[in-house]
Amino acid sequence: MNYCDLAPSYIRAIAPYQPGKPISELERELGITGIVKLASNENPLGASSAAVAAMQEAIKTIALYPDGNGFELKDALVKRYGVKHANVTLGNGSNDLLELAARAFLTPGDKVVYSAHAFAVYALATQAVGATGISVPAVKGYGHDLKAMQKAAKDNKAKIVFIANPNNPTGTFLSADDLQAFLRGLPPEILVLLDEAYNEYLPENKRYDSVAWMKQYPNLIISRTFSKAYGLAGLRVGYALAHEQVSDMINRVRQPFNVNSVAQAAAVAALRDVSFVKKTFELNQRGMAQITEGLTKLGLEYIPSFGNFVAFRIGGATAMYRRLLELGVIIRPIANYDMADWLRVSIGLESENAKFLSALEKAISQTVNGESK
Ligand SMILES: *Cc1c(COP(=O)(O)O)cnc(C)c1O
Repeated sequence: MNYCDLAPSYIRAIAPYQPGKPISELERELGITGIVKLASNENPLGASSAAVAAMQEAIKTIALYPDGNGFELKDALVKRYGVKHANVTLGNGSNDLLELAARAFLTPGDKVVYSAHAFAVYALATQAVGATGISVPAVKGYGHDLKAMQKAAKDNKAKIVFIANPNNPTGTFLSADDLQAFLRGLPPEILVLLDEAYNEYLPENKRYDSVAWMKQYPNLIISRTFSKAYGLAGLRVGYALAHEQVSDMINRVRQPFNVNSVAQAAAVAALRDVSFVKKTFELNQRGMAQITEGLTKLGLEYIPSFGNFVAFRIGGATAMYRRLLELGVIIRPIANYDMADWLRVSIGLESENAKFLSALEKAISQTVNGESK
């Protein structure tokens, strides 16, 4: 008996998500310490001290179930964005919301549109419910081809279009004008899930108010997370803003207590700590300049990025990734994004970025000298 055969064929066809290698795992494998992890777009500053204090306070009542309705966190979001409680859904990370949207609206055979090189979870969430993903080739420079995506969505009568802005792992950005043109040309029965996990990293002149667009485009779902700029990746908390009927449907398929109490408390505090997010943004700007200048000095091509990471092209990417591991630096191979010649590095502290760049230089020179395996 092969128990895999008990699962539907679309489940058996799923290629599991490949997360960044944890520091503890590399420590066990190599018996070294002082490892730098720039592999999962985490916040190198950690979490805001206000969020940490809120977590410590929340631990005191950990024996109690969380507020299944997440009132306080929703209320903080309602005040921040000028929406109603009924527009907000909380998730165990924003990943949860991507899956919940898929589960609420898709049945086997439904079509879903996303871009090539887009965040891997869109395909996973689609496949997990037996829907059919349509991956639209990217434009030159690896960005989403919104015109082609719009056509694919209409031609195939797609139920959901996933858009990442900025996208991970490419870091590419879509302007407010392009996004609005995309929404304008789409019938209201096609849902658009705009994933803004890196929204807080956008420079002032690229910012746009997608929440305001929800009035005009009731098919728009916006997802955001506390994992990236807010530094709470380990806690798992994110949220979606959507039309109240859309929220209602998503709410029906979530676990009753999908966001734990510590996470709810931390997220409220994190949302208030505006100066921490600002500090994070500024550190990222400096780090991005440091890393991209370093890559340029090494003669490497990179994709200009609007996130807290950057993808760069390098010959023998897999071997380079492994060599960097041996040198105590964990970054991310992205061959599973159909980018086999590329690696993605997250922006860290200045010292971490420097360690990455010097390890990369060393790895390249060793390869040139033929010492590499
Ligand atoms: C990291 C990331 C997310 C979700 O992260 P969570 O930790 O689940 O909130 C969503 N979308 C993109 C594009 C990401 O890179």
